[in-house]
Amino acid sequence: MPEEKKKISLGFYAFWAASMVGIVLISLLFFYLGMQSLNSNNMNDALLNILMGIAGIGIAAKVAYDMVKAKLAFQEEKQEILTELHCPKCGRKMLRPFKEGDYVGKVAQDKCPQCGTSMAIVSVFAKVPKQKKKSFFTSSSGEKA
Ligand SMILES: [Zn+2]
Repeated sequence: MPEEKKKISLGFYAFWAASMVGIVLISLLFFYLGMQSLNSNNMNDALLNILMGIAGIGIAAKVAYDMVKAKLAFQEEKQEILTELHCPKCGRKMLRPFKEGDYVGKVAQDKCPQCGTSMAIVSVFAKVPKQKKKSFFTSSSGEKA
């Protein structure tokens, strides 16, 4: 099991989540200060603090958006479409990469390796293959030289 990968990505997400929480908290603090200034009719401070707060939330939202986008692209890249074949004669099952034109129920060109009968497609699905060496998220942080 890729135990280490799990730890790396957990650490990464913990760090990311902590950063997000930090940014949001600071933004809320600015909002709070802005509201205090509003109450004491200090319009300049109020405006400045509220603007800082909005900017902070904006940064947090942008970072979150980028992260989700990168994560999705990353997952897509790792996905592999597989076709599952089934031999109607001897019942043997086989997986192979998806080929264009495959659909469930189709009799494929593939012959059963056991008895030579044409195999039928029983399912087509996306599978995340075993992890490659490293995710690009971890490559920037703390890599050994
Ligand atoms: Zn067979």
